Amino acid sequence: MQPFRHLYVHIPFCRHKCGYCDFNAYAGMDRLMPDYVDALERELAYARERHAFQELETVYLGGGTPSLLPSDLAARLLAFIRANFNVAPDAEVTLEANPASTDEAKLEAWLDGGVNRLSLGVQGFDPRALAVLERKTDAAQAVRAFRLARETGMPNISIDLIYAVPHQDLESWLETLRRGVALGPDHVSTYCLSFEEGTLLFRRRAEGRVPEVQPDAQSDLLDAACTELEAAGFRRYEVSNWARGGFESRHNQAYWRCRPVYGAGAGAHSYATDGATAWRWWNVARPRDYIAASPKPKADGEELLVRSAAAESLMLGLRTAEGMDPPPGFDVELDQLAGIGLIERHGGRVVPTRRGMDLHNQIALAVL
Ligand code: SF4
Repeated sequence: MQPFRHLYVHIPFCRHKCGYCDFNAYAGMDRLMPDYVDALERELAYARERHAFQELETVYLGGGTPSLLPSDLAARLLAFIRANFNVAPDAEVTLEANPASTDEAKLEAWLDGGVNRLSLGVQGFDPRALAVLERKTDAAQAVRAFRLARETGMPNISIDLIYAVPHQDLESWLETLRRGVALGPDHVSTYCLSFEEGTLLFRRRAEGRVPEVQPDAQSDLLDAACTELEAAGFRRYEVSNWARGGFESRHNQAYWRCRPVYGAGAGAHSYATDGATAWRWWNVARPRDYIAASPKPKADGEELLVRSAAAESLMLGLRTAEGMDPPPGFDVELDQLAGIGLIERHGGRVVPTRRGMDLHNQIALAVL
């Protein structure tokens, strides 16, 4: 088995469950936070004994809303990780934050704990789009949180923006992109809103209370993102991600390159490989069940045989602009994708074209 060099820690608490969200996130459970951090420490200590970890290149606190953790709990968790794992001096340590729960005391605790990358869930600036998403933050909070993070010394800040939100037209999306760029982020993620079954937004659409967004409109909005962000000096290095040179997310690159990632916390997924076969397993999802089950919170798992693991690595590698050296056995699929202009061969590598990045779901369908 290849050793783990990447650690993901899931913090499932949220102030409010947004109407579009199908992540493993829960509102109204803040009182569980101290027990949850205890349980995380138990799981991490057990994992450290059971699996091979080498120097960690990336640590990622995601959620949910990690910024909701009170600063003393966040500091304790970050210190625990440093004390129990060998975190590389130049490791990328990311924390996902919601603008509404980002303040000076927390930023100082995060920076003291070694966080050097903040992923700020801005999502948008247009009050109408934010209302459809049921985000409880507004543009002013996002601007305040971003500026505060910079003033406090956060060296690397990413913002998330969502497009194809009902009622969002091209003008309002352009305005969102321009306001996002004006903040001065190092990295921008743009996500196309999806209507996931089981969410409030899905039900609202089914009831006709929010309009559909036509695929043509989605593609115009994506085009606008490419034009605006590239003009502002960002490079699209993955289907949904743009960065200034040197600010590509190292943690997410570990997923796209199928590197082993240990996932701790409620519902977190881990991925391990020996370079041919791969294994994926995931923890029990609900925070209370996770606390009870830690240090052995695994719910279930699966083995990916060589062909499936290779297909998955090809599909993920073709999300990135750099592409990959394809695994053997996919010539028919790759020729077909090259024939319809979704990928190109550069020497031995395969890379997605711009169209291939925009229509990555077709690449996924072909290779999986
Ligand atoms: S803040 Fe993020 S994780 Fe939490 S409910 Fe909203 S979208 Fe989901």
